[in-house]
Formats: sequence, C-alpha cells, structure tokens
Amino acid sequence: MIAVLRATKRYGAITALEDVSLEARRGTTHVLLGSSGSGKSTLLRAILGLVPLDAGDVVVDGLPVTPASRRRLVGQVGYVVQEGGLYPHLTARDNVALPADAVGWPRPRTAERLDALTALVGLDEGALGRYPSQLSGGQRQRVGLMRALVLDPPLLLLDEPLAALDPIVRADLQGELRRLFAALGKTVLLVTHDVREAVLLGATITLLHRGRVVQQGAFADLARRPAQPFVSEFLGAQAPPPELRELL
Ligand code: ADP
Ligand code: MG
Repeated sequence: MIAVLRATKRYGAITALEDVSLEARRGTTHVLLGSSGSGKSTLLRAILGLVPLDAGDVVVDGLPVTPASRRRLVGQVGYVVQEGGLYPHLTARDNVALPADAVGWPRPRTAERLDALTALVGLDEGALGRYPSQLSGGQRQRVGLMRALVLDPPLLLLDEPLAALDPIVRADLQGELRRLFAALGKTVLLVTHDVREAVLLGATITLLHRGRVVQQGAFADLARRPAQPFVSEFLGAQAPPPELRELL
C-alpha cells in the first residue's frame, strides 16, 4: 500500500505539490491524472524518496520513505520514468537485466526471468539484442516495463508509460497493460494526462491541478458529481465534440 499524507513541495516560487494526500490500495490501479505541470512526476519521485518534501509524509507498506531510507524500496517498487529511461549504450537485454545484476542474481536466473517477461509483455525476441535507438516506440515502452518488472516488485510506479506512442499502438498497449495488471495483482500508481487511459486503467483516479488534488474517486464519481467546474472542463476537453460523437 502506498500512502501520501499532506505532501507539499516547492521549487522556489513554484509550488509543485500542495497538501496532496492519496492512498493506492494493494492490488489496485490508481491513476494520477492532470495536465502538464500539475505535479504528477514530482509526486511519483517523492514517493520513491528521490525528492525531499517540504512537508508531509510518504508511507509504503507501513514504513515511511525519505531520501535517506529509499534504498529499502529496491525490489519493492518498479519504476518507469517518463522518458523511458533506457540506457542508449546498453542493449535492451542489458537494460532489462540491470536491476537483477544490481542485486547479484546469477546469470541463468536472470536469463530465465527475461524469457518469461519477454512473453509476458509481448516483445519480439529479436528486439532484446538491439539498442534502444534501434527499437520502435512500442518496443522501448515494453522494454522499460520489463525492467520495472524484473525483480517482481509488488508495487509499480509508471510515469506516462504510453505517452510517446502513436494512438493505435497506444490503444493496443493500454489493453495489454489492463490485462497485465489484473493478472499480476500488482499495486500500480500510473501517471497520465489522457482521460481515456485513466478510465481504462484506473480503479481510482486522483485529478491534480497546479499541485493540488481537485478530486479523487472512480471515474463515474468525477463525471457525475464533479467537485468543481474544473473537473467537468478537464474531462470534457478531451471528449470528442457532439457532432463527431455520432460518427464514432
Ligand atoms: P507533471 O509531471 O504533472 O507535468 P511536474 O511534477 O514535472 O509536473 O512539475 C510540476 C511543477 O514543478 C512544474 O511547474 C515544474 O516546472 C516544476 N518542477 C518540477 N521539478 C522541478 C525542479 N527539479 N526544479 C524546479 N522546478 C521543478
Ligand atoms: Mg511529468
């Protein structure tokens, strides 16, 4: 379980997070939704202990996380950074193996795990020997996901894992992630600015705006009982206009 309690983070005059609280329950997917600059990535980084908070607490599985204690999350949390974060000078295989090497897994164990993950995320086996620049966007995203999964952590933090993809590949991978999360029983905190993705993947949504929580709940709560006009504006801005909806 991930709990954030009244987190505040300022960068000089910019307030990246203001009094943010949330709970991601075990075995569920929680979506952080908001436009660019709303504080989503800062919140994930704070949960990982990569960003010191000015106020508030992060608690993962009952224990506080701070920059000083973040090492204990190794093996507990898989993280996919916003830009993919693959090392360009390493092959896909070596990128995925990094966390296993870091904790000293013997090579055969890592190789076996890589085989299982390749099948799990639906990566072409040939792709493993290539460098990130030789992979398609969808393959890079799969490789990033494999790396996050390699130590089989119970928690996954995914920062806009599909944002860089074209719409058709993205829709494909959204469906796959949905199945994967359900099958693996992971606790997932996923960042997106895409309302459709939030609806498809998120049991619970936290809508952020300028570092503050605007509303939390199921999509139906946000749609039917918006806490502020901003909620409807945000959800409505991405829906197709009425004259087009009839054609879809
Ligand atoms: P999002 O992921 O929702 O796009 P971020 O969490 O990246 O938003 O950023 C929230 C705000 O904090 C933005 O205004 C951003 O410019 C600012 N910010 C984030 N990280 C830093 C940093 N290291 N230094 C200064 N400002 C930052
Ligand atoms: Mg971000």
